[in-house]
Amino acid sequence: MIEFKDVSLVYPNGHKGLKNINLNIQEGEFVVIVGMSGAGKSTLIRSINRMVTPTSGELIIGGENILKFKEPQLRKLRTRIGMIFQSYNIVKRMSVLRNVLAGRLGHIGTVRSIFGLFPQSDMRLAMDNLKRVGIDEKAYVRASNLSGGQQQRVSIARALTQQPSIILADEPVASLDPPTSHKVMKDLRRVSREDGLTTIVNLHFIDMAMEYADRIIGLRDGELVFDGPISEVDEQT
Ligand code: ADP
Ligand code: ADP
Repeated sequence: MIEFKDVSLVYPNGHKGLKNINLNIQEGEFVVIVGMSGAGKSTLIRSINRMVTPTSGELIIGGENILKFKEPQLRKLRTRIGMIFQSYNIVKRMSVLRNVLAGRLGHIGTVRSIFGLFPQSDMRLAMDNLKRVGIDEKAYVRASNLSGGQQQRVSIARALTQQPSIILADEPVASLDPPTSHKVMKDLRRVSREDGLTTIVNLHFIDMAMEYADRIIGLRDGELVFDGPISEVDEQT
């Protein structure tokens, strides 16, 4: 599904963000990437939707090397990938529902998107996904009135509404308190399994990773230093 073949990324200032990464992620896997701040977790995740572009190697998604993609193909790729960020990246002055509908923007035509004219089927999909993460009763509330945990659920619902095949979550719970973090991780894992999505999550706490991952990938200084099921983590440490 997602294959890194000897992928390296050198930033313009010469800093090596990723060093010869080889990695094969299967469809439907829930993978957690762990590592200290600066290890390259964001760089790895952002390579997959080409927010950053590796400087060598091949990154194969659905049989195609996405490092060769130009703008139209990138746009298509990005509609297949739902993104979840630490800072939620929702539009606070808009309603919760409108934020979730933004997941459909890549799917509807330009004119419709300019006027925010979503088909009825998109409205139903958005409402269903709000229900799945337990905040459907907040659909018509301004997003700014929600708590951090609720805002992150909006961003999960938005990602699902894209009907992606891949979800990338970059430190999704780093701004939340521990009990809320666990609830959000549980929701994310549940919906991801329900939809059979391939999910890659960056976390900087190993205990959180151990609780939710099928498989853990460890990065240090841009290098892959661990890759295995959680049962193998203890033997390493
Ligand atoms: P995080 O650790 O949460 O990923 P950072 O503070 O490392 O966040 O990075 C924030 C932003 O600054 C990112 O867009 C990243 O690409 C950029 N950035 C980080 N380090 C550098 C650097 N040395 N030079 C230029 N940009 C950087
Ligand atoms: P993590 O997500 O594990 O905190 P990042 O992928 O954000 O790590 O960053 C990996 C390394 O690359 C860090 O040392 C960071 O400072 C550096 N970095 C990130 N973005 C840039 C950039 N745009 N230019 C130069 N260095 C960067």
